[in-house]
Amino acid sequence: MPGWEVIGKEEQAAVNEVFEKGGILCAHGFDHLRKGHFATRFFESEFKDRFQAKHATAVSSGTAGLKVALKALGVGVGDEVITQAFNFIATVEAIRDCGATPIMTNIDDSLNMDPTDLKEKITSKTKAIIIVHMLGNSADMDRLMQIANENGIKVIEDNCESPGATWNDKLLGTIGDIGVFSFDMGKMITCGEGGMVITNDEQLGKFCREYPDHGHENNPDFHRGEDTREIYGFNYRMTEMQAAVGRVQLTKFNDILSSTQTKWKSLREQLSTIPSREVFNACTPMGDTVMIKVVDEDKRNEMIKASNELKVGIKNVPSAIKWHCAGYWDHILDENEFNHSQITKQILSQYVAIPINLKVASETYHKLGERILEIWTK
Ligand SMILES: *Cc1c(COP(=O)(O)O)cnc(C)c1O
Repeated sequence: MPGWEVIGKEEQAAVNEVFEKGGILCAHGFDHLRKGHFATRFFESEFKDRFQAKHATAVSSGTAGLKVALKALGVGVGDEVITQAFNFIATVEAIRDCGATPIMTNIDDSLNMDPTDLKEKITSKTKAIIIVHMLGNSADMDRLMQIANENGIKVIEDNCESPGATWNDKLLGTIGDIGVFSFDMGKMITCGEGGMVITNDEQLGKFCREYPDHGHENNPDFHRGEDTREIYGFNYRMTEMQAAVGRVQLTKFNDILSSTQTKWKSLREQLSTIPSREVFNACTPMGDTVMIKVVDEDKRNEMIKASNELKVGIKNVPSAIKWHCAGYWDHILDENEFNHSQITKQILSQYVAIPINLKVASETYHKLGERILEIWTK
């Protein structure tokens, strides 16, 4: 996810602008010192427009965003929250941090949440579902949303890894009740650290705005020190410097997206004779990772070697799988969930994930494709 590849002078100038227009302030209040510059509030508004949501709140990280979303849905002690075994550890940490119990589903051929397993895992204690669109590809949103709706359970989309991808032309992150994005250094657009929480629901939007800001309502009739509040909160605010960088990155988002999608498409077509991760017809992926299934371990290792030699590298699978598969998380899951996740661990161990980067030329991907095909047909 290549935002870091195109970070530079424009982002640096935006940070300077923060200093020039009032100095380091927090996202809210102190308007008289700002010379009309509100980096975080501008970023929220621009993000909301780009991702077609009614409400957007910037937060300090994607993990914080997940916590805010769970709190907004009232998740607490004694509740169960279902998520999937191919994931990033952040979802399970956020669930645990709310005092709730993480329940893990296995994955289907899209390598995202398996709807059949979701059905099995729902109990009277299920309070929310976190669907994670891993590495650019959408989960089966029609079936998953239908199951959630039938059971009256709210859905959070962890869309940290697939911003810009769509399902039936709807942007991922806007289909469930709340969508969460991350701008950490590995993501599609980045400000080093940061996140965004979006929703179309008025009540949830209000909670997601207030909780990361100590419950502040930012009531325009009162000075911040005298501000009104209804809930207690926490401090998960984004800084103005993060927001300034994020705003510039957002202006680069469409170019980043179309570049990765183009390269993704041609590499995937080139490798079409090799089994790959399923992409549902309804999905237009973000295109930052091509995942192929290579059961033969020797061939798999040769392909990884070829990718490293061409300086394309490998993405998360298999290199960082320990942070991305619940089959390794015996420090945070109970025995049942850990054991259940072994199926996903087994499936993922047969995949190779090739990252699509901006500064790696199309010809290099073509060369890699040829090398992979050679190894495959050996
Ligand atoms: C990156 C990521 C997060 C968390 O993001 P941070 O901003 O690093 O806290 C959550 N979920 C997934 C799937 C991610 O890839």
